[in-house]
Amino acid sequence: MMDQKKMLLNWIEQDREALIDFLSCFIQAKSPNPPGDTREAAAYIKSFLDARGLPYRVIAPQETMPNIVASFEGPAPGPHLVLNGHIDVFPAGDSDNWTHGPWSGAVVDGRIYGRGATDMKCGTTASIFAYAYLHRIRDQLKGKLTLTCVSDEETFGPWGARYLLEHHPEVHGDCCLNGEPSSPLTIRFGEKGPLWLAFTIQTTGAHGAYPHVSASATKIAARLIVELESLADIQAVVPAQVEAVSHRNADLIDEALGKGAAEILHKVTVNIGVIDGGLKVNMVPGTCKLEVDIRLPVGLDKESVMAEVQKIVARHPEVSCREINYTPPSWCDPNGEMVRYIQQNVRALKGFEPQPIASLGGTDARLWRYRDVPAYVYGPFPRNMGAADENVEIEEFLHVVRTHLLAAYDYLC
Ligand SMILES: [Zn+2]
Repeated sequence: MMDQKKMLLNWIEQDREALIDFLSCFIQAKSPNPPGDTREAAAYIKSFLDARGLPYRVIAPQETMPNIVASFEGPAPGPHLVLNGHIDVFPAGDSDNWTHGPWSGAVVDGRIYGRGATDMKCGTTASIFAYAYLHRIRDQLKGKLTLTCVSDEETFGPWGARYLLEHHPEVHGDCCLNGEPSSPLTIRFGEKGPLWLAFTIQTTGAHGAYPHVSASATKIAARLIVELESLADIQAVVPAQVEAVSHRNADLIDEALGKGAAEILHKVTVNIGVIDGGLKVNMVPGTCKLEVDIRLPVGLDKESVMAEVQKIVARHPEVSCREINYTPPSWCDPNGEMVRYIQQNVRALKGFEPQPIASLGGTDARLWRYRDVPAYVYGPFPRNMGAADENVEIEEFLHVVRTHLLAAYDYLC
């Protein structure tokens, strides 16, 4: 087994330049979402699989958003591992702010630059290469390995992993491994759930000199915003295992997610993403609209939060509330089999053990967890994720490839 692992690591060493080149070209194959057209980037993955004689299917319920699914089985029965990564990326924003163009895939000073470098073309590349290497030794593996490269992730869209899981039960598997940014220090076993609400405040409005005639929609919005802060006081019923690892890894959570993260991980947070109200300085606003991003911790359901929201709304007859989007929080066993494999391999490769933590942001891994399939995220640091000059260190990228390959290998042995 050790010899075989050495061989796998040697393959990565031999392919060092090919791996760097693959990620660079993958970034150059633009796939910003919105609009989410991933055909060029998907064609790039297909050409890689074609060149290696790896069979795959394209499942594209929405023509511009193809999903690529490949699968093989070993000769002996065993569990089914799914490697999942998304192809679409955030939009580039203003390219003038980038030192290297957002679609350059520039390889400079040990880093690869471009939109998607860390979120998540690095991780998806790790899935693709791990799949290709393990395919070579499939005769010696147990169980089944599936690769899913999906579209429509960045906007919680319905045409990517959600479609696959609903319509193709063959991709459920027994465990899912995903290379979204996590930092090499942590393994993500859970995540908060976003609940997006739109509030509309409607009054009659008036001339600015006549505030006695109409209530102000913007002033009511201001009061509403302050009152929504009280949602942070709702107590989640955090599962004991989750509580235990969060307590143990509080410092690491702050290190990986920014100082203060451990404190909000198990609390409701409220972000007023959009305020839109008023027409003119000398008019009492008759309408104001808010879009609010509420994040539910593991152990809390939408109904508990909405009950509080409705209480607040009931205090203001001018306010109505509508749900824009909801995805429940998710978690799986923080001490699961895959966690151990990742830890053991990273210890052997780097001398430290990444620790399981729940995460703040959303990933497709949740979709597997909803189906009671444990799903773990292990990927690079989120360097400039969603900002200009997004990049990944080459050494970190290769570390993610090695870890995914060896952990998947252990799982199928
Ligand atoms: Zn992502």
